[in-house]
Amino acid sequence: MIVGVPRESFPGERRVALVPAALANLAKAGMEVVVEAGAGTEAGYPDAEYAAKGAKILPERSEIFRVADIIVQVLAHGANDKTGKADLALLRRDQILVGFLRPMGSVESITEIASSGVTSFSVELIPRTTRAQSMDALSAMATVAGYKAVLIAAETLPRFFPMLTTAAGTITPSRVLILGVGVAGLQAIATARRLGAVVSAYDLRPAVKEQVQSLGARFVELAIEAKDAQDARGYATAQDESFYRRQRELLGKVIAEHDVVITTAVVPGKKAPTLVTKEMVAGMAPGSVIVDLAAERGGNCELTHVGEKAVEHGVTIIGWLNLASSVPYHASQMYARNLTSFLALLVKEGKLQLNLKDEILRETLVTQGGEIVNPRLREFFSLPPLATQEEAKK
Ligand code: NAD
Repeated sequence: MIVGVPRESFPGERRVALVPAALANLAKAGMEVVVEAGAGTEAGYPDAEYAAKGAKILPERSEIFRVADIIVQVLAHGANDKTGKADLALLRRDQILVGFLRPMGSVESITEIASSGVTSFSVELIPRTTRAQSMDALSAMATVAGYKAVLIAAETLPRFFPMLTTAAGTITPSRVLILGVGVAGLQAIATARRLGAVVSAYDLRPAVKEQVQSLGARFVELAIEAKDAQDARGYATAQDESFYRRQRELLGKVIAEHDVVITTAVVPGKKAPTLVTKEMVAGMAPGSVIVDLAAERGGNCELTHVGEKAVEHGVTIIGWLNLASSVPYHASQMYARNLTSFLALLVKEGKLQLNLKDEILRETLVTQGGEIVNPRLREFFSLPPLATQEEAKK
């Protein structure tokens, strides 16, 4: 089995799908690796390090796609909506593709992937189970983004984060509010605490209260309760508009008390809820900072300019995308670990084992034989169930 690592082509992307240290484990499972020249350079992994671990370096991208049985990418078509399409012509029927595909993004791009005939797996669909934990790329990248969001906020804020007692006077610590306490939010709390800020956090899932407190932050309780706040997979459920309206009314005062707001609130397959309105931005002290990690999904702040930094009412609002790419060395190391665990399920003793009885493979498989085969995605995109799947149900 040959695993191919093309250079990431999304503009500004610095990560790479596999790092040299991952190659030994892949070799044990019977996989050889071919790497496009320069694929790891921007993440801090030169070609020579891959070669030293037994990889073959190929200068042409098309060669990688031609010789590999399995292509691994960070942002594949779908997640890479700028340059990902160009790879479709290089993929061939029954070749395996593993990467971020943004499966609930657009039915067009997933259909295009299907049309290439490739057997594709989307890392976004890896179940949140104990067995799949080491493959959970969303969590790994959310960890990176949560950390980096705090550093960006600290860099932008015209104040210190920590309390300082100096001969030139006492500095009061900055107050940081985290809205949405999933993986990114928890990492943001921990990072802001390490920098000495006073941290508060809020989530509609009351289950996170203890986690927030165990990190030394205050849990903000609003006089409003979400209905069935969390689904079986641990994700927040969508609420009705009256909930979101009430939530915004209650959040306004809390937000005004903070120097930094980091928002991470998303609901799978939906546009991100608006938690910070223009009025709330106007109510913040000048110089305050909002980092909107939900920008990719439309943003949690009404004034977020997706992909950009903007100043509104004296408040800097950062809606940059793809923050995980800005810590490329460790983000790639973590992602490579996720992929290595995943590939170990897929390839045994050098042979492909497409065992769809395995929950992890079944849930992440998106396209096969020219079709979108994932039942959850077919339902999400209102596509009729496949005849074979109807048969299987009987
Ligand atoms: P996510 O990225 O889907 O969402 C981020 C957070 O935003 C969530 O905590 C969500 O509750 C919150 N949110 C959504 N709408 C909101 C609103 N209107 N107001 C306030 N907050 C709102 O979350 P995630 O990081 O993917 O984590 C989801 C859950 O899954 C967490 O409980 C996490 O700990 C859990 N998880 C479990 C595993 C595992 O068991 N292997 C792995 C990863 C995550």
